[in-house]
Amino acid sequence: MGQSFSDSRDGSAHLTGTRGSRVTIVGGGVMGLMTAYYAAPLATSVTVIDKSRVGDPGTASFGLTRSVRNDYLDPQYSRLAFEARQLWLDLQERAGQRLLVDCGCLNLVKQSVTPDVDASYAVRSFAVLDDLKLPREALPGPALAQRFPQFAADGGWLDVDAGFADVAAVTAMLRSVLPGRGVEFREETEVRAITRSDDGWQLQTSGPAVESDVLVITAGLGTNGLLELIDGCSVRFPLSPDRPMQSKYFIPDPAVRDQYTEAALPVFAYLDVGIYGHPLYAGKTPGVKIGFYHPPDATAVPSAIKSVEDFVAECMPGLRDAETIDVAEASGVDTCFYDLVGDDEFILGPLPGDRSAVGGAFVGVGWRGTGYKFAPWVGRVLAQLAGTEGTVYDISRFTPGRFARGSQTGTLTGGTT
Ligand SMILES: Cc1cc2nc3c(=O)[nH]c(=O)nc-3n(C[C@H](O)[C@H](O)[C@H](O)COP(=O)(O)OP(=O)(O)OC[C@H]3O[C@@H](n4cnc5c(N)ncnc54)[C@H](O)[C@@H]3O)c2cc1C
Repeated sequence: MGQSFSDSRDGSAHLTGTRGSRVTIVGGGVMGLMTAYYAAPLATSVTVIDKSRVGDPGTASFGLTRSVRNDYLDPQYSRLAFEARQLWLDLQERAGQRLLVDCGCLNLVKQSVTPDVDASYAVRSFAVLDDLKLPREALPGPALAQRFPQFAADGGWLDVDAGFADVAAVTAMLRSVLPGRGVEFREETEVRAITRSDDGWQLQTSGPAVESDVLVITAGLGTNGLLELIDGCSVRFPLSPDRPMQSKYFIPDPAVRDQYTEAALPVFAYLDVGIYGHPLYAGKTPGVKIGFYHPPDATAVPSAIKSVEDFVAECMPGLRDAETIDVAEASGVDTCFYDLVGDDEFILGPLPGDRSAVGGAFVGVGWRGTGYKFAPWVGRVLAQLAGTEGTVYDISRFTPGRFARGSQTGTLTGGTT
């Protein structure tokens, strides 16, 4: 399918230049690009500055697949994921191109591995989907074996409106569509100074200076370095890099390959034991991707599963003899880091501080390895903030102000990375 893009419904095909603010976005990962996408119709001009290139392999938004699911333990994150999904579907329809692969997301439980089934992530997250009345399907015992014989487990709880994003397609779509919405890219551009003056922002860069009314920072783990450049901005965020212990492609035998593609296999997870996986994406990825990761804040249930190989031996026996390759080594993807946050919540909203120092500056960071699926929602929020200094969403929970000096919950951090 082509890259044509219909903007007629939001009237945003052209920037009129008659109203709105000039917006500078520093950081051209998926969050910055989505912000640019939604800001363009509201703004006089939008400039995206990145120290590397859009889609650079060293960024968190570079990869082949990212899970898109609603099955969080916290209902607010589930609702936001579902909201973001509606925006993805809208983007996909406008692009006339597949961005999401809707194969569902299956949470597994096996009593011999994690005996307390009721306490499992699968059962608890399913209860959240149930409360929110989001599409879901319980596959206990034989129902799992019948529907997804690839798994040897006691049950599967399926988040139906889920799957994964085709990351290359998303990046290519945004890259091709944004210039048509009037967005200017400044890539391989270093920001050297950020100055607030006359209610606006001036950025000195390795290229020409950029002036704007609004500044949005979506620079991932580079965010604190940019805050250092702003006179009178004392907030720093407790961000730290982390990555999965293992991430491998299991290449199924050609005779059974069809059972492992996105047409037959959902995204799957056994989060109690640190396992998540993506089906083989036919023509795009070499195998079933399986990762092993215990977030530092999560309570790991003691189990015999200490690696992706242990998981396969226990729960996906059909892949036991499959050839494996390391995801990063094989395809040069996912070499980057999660941006974990000290208190394990997103950071989204205005920079805290005196208006004369940080007025008209907004930030979005700290996506903790789970941000991709939320990207259109994040972009929409930041665009609303940039355009109207407010948003229709309640983002108080994510306020950057919680890390300001003197804030009750704030971490006065110098120890961020
Ligand atoms: C291995 C891995 C797997 C993941 N899996 C999932 C998943 O399955 N599902 C999911 O929902 N999420 C997932 N995530 C999380 C998701 O990919 C990220 O949350 C998301 O891509 C973050 O986007 P971003 O734009 O904030 O960051 P980035 O993509 O890192 O973009 C930040 C940009 O800022 C630029 N920058 C930094 N410093 C500066 C500076 N000083 N000046 C100018 N530019 C600067 C960088 O060059 C970069 O382009 C995963 C992340 C990783 C790393």
